[in-house]
Amino acid sequence: MTIQEAYKFCLYCGSKANLVGEDHLECPNCGKKFFFSPSVGSACFCRNPKGEILVIERNIEPHKGTLGLPAGFVDINDPTLESTIVREIMEEVGCKVKNIKYLSSHHTIYPFAGVDRPHMSTFWVCELDEETPEPKTSSEVSKVFFADVKTLDLSKFGFDSTRMAIKDYIDFLNK
Ligand SMILES: [Zn+2]
Repeated sequence: MTIQEAYKFCLYCGSKANLVGEDHLECPNCGKKFFFSPSVGSACFCRNPKGEILVIERNIEPHKGTLGLPAGFVDINDPTLESTIVREIMEEVGCKVKNIKYLSSHHTIYPFAGVDRPHMSTFWVCELDEETPEPKTSSEVSKVFFADVKTLDLSKFGFDSTRMAIKDYIDFLNK
């Protein structure tokens, strides 16, 4: 179901709330509003010295078993989008990265707990730090490998935002 179908009650007082347009609820009891803004995440094209990028196989839903990039939601106290990359790539594959530069962003749908949630993915380019341990799998990642981006089969990637960002990255390389 959509987020508009899932959220029906005021978060502040619990009264039945009214949907206003597509983008927010308004409470007839306390007057407060709640906006359906997208969650935000960071994902990265992490390059090894050969210029190959780090690709993972997702071990968690949504899109479990599909390919993806190291990525995650911005945590409540992450100071920057770049810091989300540093934290997530360490948590998911145990690697240290450097030289994080912005690439692009894409809206997508993140299905979670039966609700299709709006999500804004930001994409970054970075390099493996010389001091990094080798990438390894984790609870969230069932496979990890490096690949030439031009050889990747886009149909194996779960999120449409990642497929779009791979095209952005190839354009970036061709500039
Ligand atoms: Zn209320």
